[in-house]
Amino acid sequence: MVMGDLVVEVDVAVVGGGPGGYSAAFRCAELGLEAVVVDATARLGGACLFEGCIPSKALLHVAAVLDAAERAKEFGVDFGAPRVALEPLRRWKTERVVGKLARGLASVAKAKGVEVVAGRAVFEGSRELRVEGETPQKIRFKHAILATGAAPSPLPGLERAGDRVLDSTAALALADVPGRLLVVGGGYIGLELGQVYAALGSAVTLVEMLDGLLPGVDRDLVQPLARRAEKQFASILLGTRVVALSEAGGAVEAQLSSGETLVVDRVLVAVGRRPQSAGLGLETTRAAVDARGVVAVDERCRTADPYVFAVGDVTGEPMLAHRAMRQGKVAAEVIAGRPSAFDNAAVPAVVFTDPEVAWCGLTEAEAAREGRAVTIARFPWAASGRAATLGRADGLTKLVADPESGRVLGVGLVGPGAGELVAEAALAVEAALTVEDLAATIHAHPTLSETLMEAAETLLRRA
Ligand code: FAD
Ligand code: NAD
Repeated sequence: MVMGDLVVEVDVAVVGGGPGGYSAAFRCAELGLEAVVVDATARLGGACLFEGCIPSKALLHVAAVLDAAERAKEFGVDFGAPRVALEPLRRWKTERVVGKLARGLASVAKAKGVEVVAGRAVFEGSRELRVEGETPQKIRFKHAILATGAAPSPLPGLERAGDRVLDSTAALALADVPGRLLVVGGGYIGLELGQVYAALGSAVTLVEMLDGLLPGVDRDLVQPLARRAEKQFASILLGTRVVALSEAGGAVEAQLSSGETLVVDRVLVAVGRRPQSAGLGLETTRAAVDARGVVAVDERCRTADPYVFAVGDVTGEPMLAHRAMRQGKVAAEVIAGRPSAFDNAAVPAVVFTDPEVAWCGLTEAEAAREGRAVTIARFPWAASGRAATLGRADGLTKLVADPESGRVLGVGLVGPGAGELVAEAALAVEAALTVEDLAATIHAHPTLSETLMEAAETLLRRA
């Protein structure tokens, strides 16, 4: 690195230190490229570590512990009524979980020689960035990797509704446990955080504008989660929108499209996330940005500008950390001259609710939409020995296969631990394994993974 009048020259400037950005920078360093990461927060981890995946999963773990204690009554174990102290809970989440991982990332960066520059980066053309912040500087680069992520979408027309209206970041801060919580949006965040607050004692009302939870996900996978959420939440209102929100006397009044008015203590808005591509000076590059702010990339993570790559949420759906990480590695490898591409057949998706919902590859709904002939096998966990020992018969494993070749095209799972089981499924889809391969692989007994083998055997028996 050449310093002088605060102009820095590097091989690769990475803008944004989330999973996409830090994975790209670490891979650059491994491949002998000098990389710096510019991040507005001065830390590596991004939304995933500080306001997303990790804090939400920490809180969902707490919810699962509370739930396990409640369920234990069924087999004669009574721990008594739980008492939750918020301050130790917040401290554990922030220091022991998030803080520990953040320190780990900082030390990996140090070990790999990746410098983290604090400040807001703005492009000044295809080879230079301006960093705004405490130490303003310019960074000249041979290549840049844009990894600025996404931010919560506001509810249209309701941007000024006051501080009782939370986004996911505010909800994860756990300022309090409101008596009555309205969750707007029945997607990933609405369901995960809705379950957290319900477990902590809030009466949760969830409002979803479409006619089902987790739109886009196969209905048979959503059903067990919907049933569970119906028990945990005060109510779930489908096909309903919030049309107005107003603060009144320490509460929030929500007008619904059904004509109903709800009075709640807090509102969590979880209606999607939008790419953070505005105000970055991208117009000074040749990178193309669409009307929703999505930066267009090809499978090598190249934008229309030969010097600018983009990875992660800023490149659109699916906005998942592991996709961002894989893209980050691909971008670094392409810059280093390797024949790498983001051409994965399976990007696993996991909703970490109770029960967990997970899928990868082709879904049944996609196959139907595309008019593609597939064979489907379902194995209900009611027939799984392991599920019985866990007291959980509410799961399902589903295989989507090609009728001609027997190739596994997709897998859907719902049940506790589905998020771990989807790893085998992703490997099967990615490696183009057949149903016969799955059936002939010995799965340890009694495990939930046997349900993949059983589903495969169901298909073979039919053939
Ligand atoms: P981000 O992680 O958003 O990082 C972008 C970084 O860029 C930030 O650090 C930001 O400070 C920085 N930045 C932005 N603009 C600039 C600028 N101009 N200059 C300098 N720096 C800038 N995904 C999963 O796979 N699993 C989960 O369980 C999961 N749970 C989630 C839970 C919640 C509540 C939320 C909100 C998201 C969750 N996600 C989850 C999504 C996941 O967090 C994102 O997909 C992931 O963080 C995207 O990584 P990224 O590198 O693209 O961007
Ligand atoms: P989402 O897209 O998952 O769900 C948003 C939901 O809000 C949809 O069901 C949509 O129909 C509904 N909606 C939209 N406008 C509405 C309105 N006006 N009124 C009522 N409902 C409305 O978005 P999210 O839950 O905000 O999460 C954002 C993204 O973050 C996810 O799509 C995912 O990419 C990522 N994420 C992933 C995980 C995970 O991997 N476990 C967890 C949390 C977030």
